[in-house]
Amino acid sequence: MTNAQTPKSRDGVEQDQFLTILSREDALKRFEAALFPRAVPSESRALADALGCALAADVVAPIDVPPFDRSNVDGFAVRSADLVSAGEATPARVMLNDEVIACGAAPMRPVLSGTATLIATGGPLPRGADAIVMVEHTQPAGPRAIEIRRAVSPGQFVSYAGSDIARGEALLRAGIIIGSREIGMLAACGIAQVSVARRPRVAVISTGDELIQPGEMLRPAAIYDSNGAIVAAAVRENGGEAMFLGAIADDEEKLEAAMRQALETSDMLVLSGGTSKGAGDVSHRIIARLGQPGIIAHGVALKPGKPLCLAVCDGKPVVILPGFPTSAMFTFHDMIVPALRRMAGLPARSDAKVTAKVPMRIASELGRTEFVMVSLVEGADGLIAYPSGKGSGAITSFAQADGFLRIDALADQMPAGTTTEVTLFTPHVRVPDLMIVGSHCTGLDLVTAPLARAGLLVRSIAVGSLGGLAAAKRGECDFAPIHLFDETTESYNAPFLADGLELVPGWRRMQGIVFRSGDARFEGSSAQDAVRAALADPGCVMVNRNQGAGTRILLSRLLGGARPEGYWNQPRSHNAVAAAVAQHRADWGMTIAPVAHAAGLGFIPFAEEHYDFALVTARKPRPAVQAFLKALASEQSRAALAQAGFRPA
Ligand code: AMP
Ligand code: MG
Repeated sequence: MTNAQTPKSRDGVEQDQFLTILSREDALKRFEAALFPRAVPSESRALADALGCALAADVVAPIDVPPFDRSNVDGFAVRSADLVSAGEATPARVMLNDEVIACGAAPMRPVLSGTATLIATGGPLPRGADAIVMVEHTQPAGPRAIEIRRAVSPGQFVSYAGSDIARGEALLRAGIIIGSREIGMLAACGIAQVSVARRPRVAVISTGDELIQPGEMLRPAAIYDSNGAIVAAAVRENGGEAMFLGAIADDEEKLEAAMRQALETSDMLVLSGGTSKGAGDVSHRIIARLGQPGIIAHGVALKPGKPLCLAVCDGKPVVILPGFPTSAMFTFHDMIVPALRRMAGLPARSDAKVTAKVPMRIASELGRTEFVMVSLVEGADGLIAYPSGKGSGAITSFAQADGFLRIDALADQMPAGTTTEVTLFTPHVRVPDLMIVGSHCTGLDLVTAPLARAGLLVRSIAVGSLGGLAAAKRGECDFAPIHLFDETTESYNAPFLADGLELVPGWRRMQGIVFRSGDARFEGSSAQDAVRAALADPGCVMVNRNQGAGTRILLSRLLGGARPEGYWNQPRSHNAVAAAVAQHRADWGMTIAPVAHAAGLGFIPFAEEHYDFALVTARKPRPAVQAFLKALASEQSRAALAQAGFRPA
């Protein structure tokens, strides 16, 4: 009996699910065993609609191609025996028959000994003729005759019936993916309809009270549903027909109705969200009531993707992907795509792999196979794989990566310098023309825009100023954008450079106090007065920055050791500070002017921060580096930076 049929406490249900965590390999094996073998249903499709489909049955050629003996050139149909002794000194003179064989015209007159018939490329060989002489190799000889000065061999310039495709020959085998070349062969045989594997219909449902569909207004505390669009697209990419049924609230009754309805009209059901232990995670409890054998794996020793739930209900796969977009995408590709492709009659996907070295230690959880999304960079001796700094909740960690590396379940880390295999998301490594590793700033996009338009591939990896400097010292990038304040010299950036690096001035960013416009505690004050007013009001909540951030250092100077309410809220970006103030979670904080203005907030300037570039001198001659330097100095970039609120150096 399954959990749902035996009423149990919620705790009991959860314990049961998470006591049985399977390894990735076991989960895959059991899922496939419950689904296969199975017949791949087929359907007849018009040739024009069959592109990309898998052929369901062998196709045997119904006719010969070409269907008749055909001339390959413009020339004369002749009898080779008439021309055995033809040569430069002994031209053969033949009489022309009163017929011209054009394409598509069946010949009416035979070629008798001593005669020839004018024939076009593609014309059918007339009775009696056995070879073609090219027009270029003949000369007119009177009104109805030509001269030929070379011998011809039987069959010259003739394609015989069935020489391309012979009737009865196996033309295409079942399972082949129909591309333009296959369509050409089928068309040449006159085949207008083919039997192809029917695309599995895959119903896609997102779950969560917080989800809003793209195109609609975001309300407070809501997020856009990205999994729905991602999964539907990935289904289509892998031979399925996706039916996206929208986002359903975390309501057991509504969700069950939607799941039952979806299963009635589909071959497979993919949900996302609601599969972990959180309150309101209900879909896995519904699955047990939908059909046999039900849940096969709930909890897989996989990262990202531990809460993945795999089920088969009366022959149909039902899957609940984790809610976090990167986990959802990754588990779908790793665990679901193989089954989907098999159901669609498609061959397994072949992923390209490369070896690369990891520049830093990557910690990993013992007991879970961990997949780490990486960006690839060309190092001095081979590829370097930078782990994506963002977690599985971030959509970009999957979407912007070049591929992923794998850390074994039995390892608790991958040491710095390890050479490892990287599975690519693309068929080839795309080596960027310009590599920027360091602190990120929205101003950077304004400077690189002309490079992108000129077809240069620019890659920027945000690892912070210190991480960027380290990468630059190892020669893994062209530029490291940095904004580091040196307290001893009271200057920016230059004191941090090492040998082999030179400083390229970037722009200044005004740091200041951000607050909601109209707040009397801040409006019209200096930064010092504003902080004084904030500290005087016990109900006033601040938002801090993370340790090590340049902004944090400035802020600490203003606070002078005070730790007001909100001090321990320490987000890692300028945008997060602005969001906290805009959403009333805090009343003030410190951010840069462009971010404050973009969020529609009040701003009190305090100090300018220098955002510069550490350039790896050895890379200076590279064309993309030169293009970047030129773009940085250009009037357009400077105007765009100024427009966005930065001050070009
Ligand atoms: P859940 O597994 O439902 O607890 O979701 C885990 C996290 O993923 C939460 O932060 C959800 O808001 C988020 N999430 C769930 N579904 C989606 C979705 N369709 N699109 C984007 N984020 C989602
Ligand atoms: Mg949820």
